[in-house]
Amino acid sequence: MKKFLGAVTAIGLTFAMAGIAQAQQQFISIGTGGVTGVYYPTGGAICRLVNKDRKEHGIRCSAESTGGSIYNINTIRAGELEFGVAQSDWQYHAYHGTSKFEDQGKFENLRAVFSVHPEPVTVIASDASGVNTLTDVKGKRLNIGNPGSGTRGTWDVIEEALGWQRSDLKLAAEMKSAETGQAVCDGKIDAYFWLVGHPSALTQESLATCDAHLVSVEGEAIDKLVADNSFYRKATIPAGMYNNDKDIQTFGVGATFVSSADVPDEVVYVVVKAVFENFDDFKGLHPAFANLKPEEMIKDALSAPLHPGAAKYYKEKGWM
Ligand code: GLU
Repeated sequence: MKKFLGAVTAIGLTFAMAGIAQAQQQFISIGTGGVTGVYYPTGGAICRLVNKDRKEHGIRCSAESTGGSIYNINTIRAGELEFGVAQSDWQYHAYHGTSKFEDQGKFENLRAVFSVHPEPVTVIASDASGVNTLTDVKGKRLNIGNPGSGTRGTWDVIEEALGWQRSDLKLAAEMKSAETGQAVCDGKIDAYFWLVGHPSALTQESLATCDAHLVSVEGEAIDKLVADNSFYRKATIPAGMYNNDKDIQTFGVGATFVSSADVPDEVVYVVVKAVFENFDDFKGLHPAFANLKPEEMIKDALSAPLHPGAAKYYKEKGWM
C-alpha cells in the first residue's frame, strides 16, 4: 500500500511539474502581411530571435501571414494577436479614432513597440499600359489592395485627395499582394499599388520577370497630403534598386511594430530585448533593414504611446 501511494504521489508530482512547465510556456503571435511582402519576413525575423532563447524565457513566437496593417490592428484590439506590423498612418488613425477607425472609436490600448523600415507608395505598371505617373492610372485597371491591408486604406485616402471616384478606374482590383505580380505580367491589370519596404521579393520578381517599371507618385495633391499629415513624408526609391536607372520620387509611411497595453510588460520586454541585443543579426535578416538605427526606431513614426515593457528596455540601455 505504501509502495502504491508512493507511485501515485510520483505520478501526481510529474503532472504538477508538467503543469508548471506549461504555465511558463507562453505563446505569442505576430500578424504580418502577404508572404511576398516585407512584413512577413519582419515577423519571422523577430520570432527567430525570440525563439532562440526560448528555454530561458518560455515564450514561443510565431509569425502569421495576414491581410496587412488594418487587419493586424483590429485583431490585436480583439485580443487575438499579441503583436502586429502596421503602417504608421494606420497606427495614428487607430489610436486617435480617425479616418477608417472613426466608427470603432479610439483604440486607446494600442501601444507602439518600435518602428521598422520605410514604406514608400510603390506603383508597378506594365510597359504596355502607358502608365508613367500616378495620375496616368485614371481609366486603367489598378490593383488597389485587399480589404484589411494598409495599402488599401492608403489608396482610399489618395483617391480622395486626387478628387477621384472609384469609377475613375476602369477596374479597381482587390487582390492580395502575392497575386498582383502575376496579374501585371499576364496583362490582367495595368498596374498595382502598394506600400512596402525595399527591396521586396514581389517588386523584385515583377520587375525582373515581366516588362514592367516603377511609376513616380508626385503632384500637388500629394504635396498637400504630406504637408497636412505628420505620418507621411517624401520618399525616393533609389536608382538601381530594381530595373530603374533613375530615382523614383514618391511619398510614404513607416512600418511599425505594435502591441496592446493588455500584453504583459515582461513579454514585450523579452521581445524588444531579443531584437536589440541581436541587432546585427536582425539587420542581416532582410535587406530592407539595412539602414535601421535603434535611436530612430524607438521614436520615429510612432503615434501611440510606447508599451511600458519596451520603454523599460530602452531606459535600461540609456536610449531615453
Ligand atoms: N504595408 C502593407 C499593408 O499593410 C504590407 C506590406 C508588406 O507586406 O510588407 O498592406
